[in-house]
Amino acid sequence: MDRPLTNAAQHIGNTTFGTKLRRIIIQCPKHGPVGVFATTDQFGVEYVGKCLRCVEEESAAEATEFKRRREDPALQLRNRMIDAGIPDDYLDESFSTYTFDGWEDPHRGFFEYSRLFVENRDRTMVVLGNPGVGKTHVACSMLREMIVRGFSALYVTEGALLRQIRSTFSKKGGPTEEEVFRRYTSCDVLVMDEMGIAPWSEYSVQSLADIIDTRVSRKKKTVFLGNMDLGTFKKHLSDASISRISMGKTFEVTGDDYRKLKKRQGRV
Ligand SMILES: [Zn+2]
Repeated sequence: MDRPLTNAAQHIGNTTFGTKLRRIIIQCPKHGPVGVFATTDQFGVEYVGKCLRCVEEESAAEATEFKRRREDPALQLRNRMIDAGIPDDYLDESFSTYTFDGWEDPHRGFFEYSRLFVENRDRTMVVLGNPGVGKTHVACSMLREMIVRGFSALYVTEGALLRQIRSTFSKKGGPTEEEVFRRYTSCDVLVMDEMGIAPWSEYSVQSLADIIDTRVSRKKKTVFLGNMDLGTFKKHLSDASISRISMGKTFEVTGDDYRKLKKRQGRV
């Protein structure tokens, strides 16, 4: 109950003159008549305390709910996915929510391989194709599976990563270049999305190359997603990075827009 029944309040006597706090009896709908404190402010507005038993019950219920949430495996996974930087739209998506247009579906190859990538020892995967072919859905599903297996995972767009690197140039607090480098080289699996959109400089290409080089030599997994063809992708990165990445699998996905496909199959 939010507002006790002040009408039913029964004064049990003011305390010493001048003391504004007084004890009254209110009728709690749940606990019957209970004593609470009441006070009147300088404008004559009366404030009546809540039934203490109700307050106790509410905080006990909150504590139980807090414990349940903290221990709920589904919520724990969701929080780890949020920490990994997975976009909101993909927090509830997984391999099992991915829809196909039959076995001939052009997306099948990189979908099946992404499931293997969770388990195998390959270090890099490149998926290129038009926007909306489901690249991010599949990559985030892969991250989800790796998080479930206890691996540390990160999702970042190339633009956001370059911005983080650039922001370390201005010495106005924030993470240092070394901290950004460590963050993106230490996680077990990294998905770098939207490759090739952000404007890049000689320096950002070098920073990216350092991250890729370090990740590959530390046997960490890296997935690159981009809306471009392979030729453009290769020009976008340094030769050293390309030779590192070329050891892994590359998929060029064409065909129907996955988002359209989902709509046609009754999903938004
Ligand atoms: Zn009560």
